[in-house]
Amino acid sequence: MEISASLRFIDSGTGRFQDSYGLKIGALRSSHPRTRERFQRLDFVSGIGICASLRKKRKPHPWVRRFGIAQLTRHDLSELLKSQSASKAVWSALRAGASPFVLDSQELTSKQAALKAFDVDDIFAMTLKPEAVEHMIEEAPGEGVASTHKFLLRLHDGFSVESVLIPNDRRLTRRATTICISSQVGCAQGCCFCRTGTMGLLRNLSTEEIIAQVVQGRRLAKELSLPRVLKVVFMGMGEPLANLSNVKQAVEALSDMRRMGFARKRLQISTVAPSPHQVLALKGMRCQLVWSLHSPCDTLRAQLVPTSLFSTMELREAFLTVFRSSSGNPDRRFMVAVVMIAGVNDQPENARELAEFLIPFYEDPEVGLSVNLIPYNENPELSEHQFAASDVKTVQKFRKLVNESLPGMAIHIRETRGANASSACGQLATELKRQHERAVTIIKQQADVEAV
Ligand code: SF4
Repeated sequence: MEISASLRFIDSGTGRFQDSYGLKIGALRSSHPRTRERFQRLDFVSGIGICASLRKKRKPHPWVRRFGIAQLTRHDLSELLKSQSASKAVWSALRAGASPFVLDSQELTSKQAALKAFDVDDIFAMTLKPEAVEHMIEEAPGEGVASTHKFLLRLHDGFSVESVLIPNDRRLTRRATTICISSQVGCAQGCCFCRTGTMGLLRNLSTEEIIAQVVQGRRLAKELSLPRVLKVVFMGMGEPLANLSNVKQAVEALSDMRRMGFARKRLQISTVAPSPHQVLALKGMRCQLVWSLHSPCDTLRAQLVPTSLFSTMELREAFLTVFRSSSGNPDRRFMVAVVMIAGVNDQPENARELAEFLIPFYEDPEVGLSVNLIPYNENPELSEHQFAASDVKTVQKFRKLVNESLPGMAIHIRETRGANASSACGQLATELKRQHERAVTIIKQQADVEAV
């Protein structure tokens, strides 16, 4: 392995920086205990950490793990750059929708010396380049309602993921844009009403790739004269809990006021809740939770979300434990989402069943429950299941019936914004054919490399 002049080590016992000659430089006071354990050796050139056990042997550990800038706290990044102002400049550039890797950018001129430590060919740097946004679709839903903008972000290995910019209603006094981001390329959950589900899982996104969507979103919002991006929802491609460690680190960076600076009530994770174990791992996350329940009936839910292996009762218990835990979800607002499909889950008996199922959340003072009814985005390409969207009257009747059992609970009926681009919650769809072709090419290339 190549060791550059800027490579330094961290003593595994003391957690202190040491250069290659053993000189103590400073303590690493990481806010991530595991990061401290694992960061034995840091490569300053690329901002990537490589794990190696230095105490016992001077050889790298058999497994190598890479850490990127987005996973480092401001303090750790200051240590890496030997400059607090450079670390501040990195995050203020990212917050503003700019790439800190662009060394000739005017705002960063004074910080160039420290920032030159970064490698402009770094994967994160490549994802932040304006040309990484390869496709843009604008959808104008109607008069008085601002257009949504869907963009494809090209990743370093040829895959791409979708994100959507959704400006709020023009009539509202506080103008803001919400960005809907992806957590995986494809998805393994296979929900039968979702085009992404037909792709299968191609790979997880790294923390940097998740953050890059928000940075690009902020840049595009500025260019398109949209209101500032103030809210992030994980409702694009992928199941966030199936990529938990990267999503968790992204939420930490997004909710950290010294990094991306989003208020926790403006960060939302939407999940089908693959298992109680994964739900319990949400304890202490600084964001709001949305459970894509669709139906409390296990038989019907198993048809809509065929990978659901646990009963809705078990999953409900897990969510309640998260909210009741002392280190629980700091934002008590909790949303239950139902995609409304005509004749499938929109009947009066479905409404009554849902209301009964939600009682433990409704009665729990730790939970601020609301329900989101999302009209199904009709998708002719899902030939196996020819679903139709519930009509407006049926959805309104459904809401009334639920509210009769749970008076005062907020029930929102989602506008179908993004429908034309198949870009509403959990129903984002990318150009599947192209994505699959790329996947096949990449797999073939990997097989060729292995064969050599
Ligand atoms: S709805 Fe969400 S969880 Fe289900 S397949 Fe689509 S992306 Fe995955």
